[in-house]
Amino acid sequence: MVNALTIDVEDYWSIFSRDWLGLDQEPSDAVVKNTEWFLETLDLFSVKATFFVLGRVAIRFPGLVRKIARAGHEIGSHGISHEQIFKFTKEQFRSEITDSKKLLEDIVSGLVFGYRAPAFSIMPQTKWALEVLAEAGFNYDSSVFPISGRRYGWPGFSRDIARIELPSGRTIVEVPMSTVSILGKILPVAGGGYIRHFPYFITKWAMEHIQKRNRPVIVYVHPYEVDTGVRTFDTKQLSYKKRIRAMKFHKMQLRNRNTVRGKLTKLLSEFEFATVKQVIEKTVVRSYKEAIKDEVRDRWYTEIF
Ligand SMILES: [Zn+2]
Repeated sequence: MVNALTIDVEDYWSIFSRDWLGLDQEPSDAVVKNTEWFLETLDLFSVKATFFVLGRVAIRFPGLVRKIARAGHEIGSHGISHEQIFKFTKEQFRSEITDSKKLLEDIVSGLVFGYRAPAFSIMPQTKWALEVLAEAGFNYDSSVFPISGRRYGWPGFSRDIARIELPSGRTIVEVPMSTVSILGKILPVAGGGYIRHFPYFITKWAMEHIQKRNRPVIVYVHPYEVDTGVRTFDTKQLSYKKRIRAMKFHKMQLRNRNTVRGKLTKLLSEFEFATVKQVIEKTVVRSYKEAIKDEVRDRWYTEIF
């Protein structure tokens, strides 16, 4: 079973600064250094992956994007600004993704097929985004977490890769993020914080469990997750309450980063990986209606579209 390895190429410092410190900062060159670790490691294992590159990173470091593409990896879009979709109007989202696609395609002189939303923000309230993506020429999206989460999730969404027929008649393939079902609860696995915080054997068990159900695993990581460098930053512009919240978030983001290189190397030696595009080509893509269970099919499909 071939799984998809996906890397959301964004700079932790610029996003953390904007979202938690209220400071606008260009992506730092940490994103280049960290992404290069991925390129070197993937090369050792002869694995090709999908890199969903943030537009702001591509504007600042176009050479990095070319380097990823030249190594034979797939380039996908992660938008431009890393704002969650619910913060956009439909028109703003349209220009964000159209611009990001063109930006990346111009840099690599090739086509961009796929999109990953910042913070998995394609949810029931932003379902219109799938139609906008199809209109903009994206062939697939990989942003839906079929869970009922605190910050993201679309409970009841298909857990299989499926072709969705949209109200306009257009279609788009959705590659949902990987989950396991334990005691009736659907839980996220095989990505970012989950790989970082869970011991390796849990991620391994979860991946084998998903594969037994004939599903490829969609693994996601961020370049910054292998970055163990220490950096100081100013919080004096923040209120006490905001400072505490920012520090708490930051501490959580740094936790267990020193385990990620080893865990990813183990995953690469124990499982087979390819790009999302290749995984879609190898998977039988069912229609969305078929992919969801009979008893919920009509209800969900009607509620969703
Ligand atoms: Zn992201």
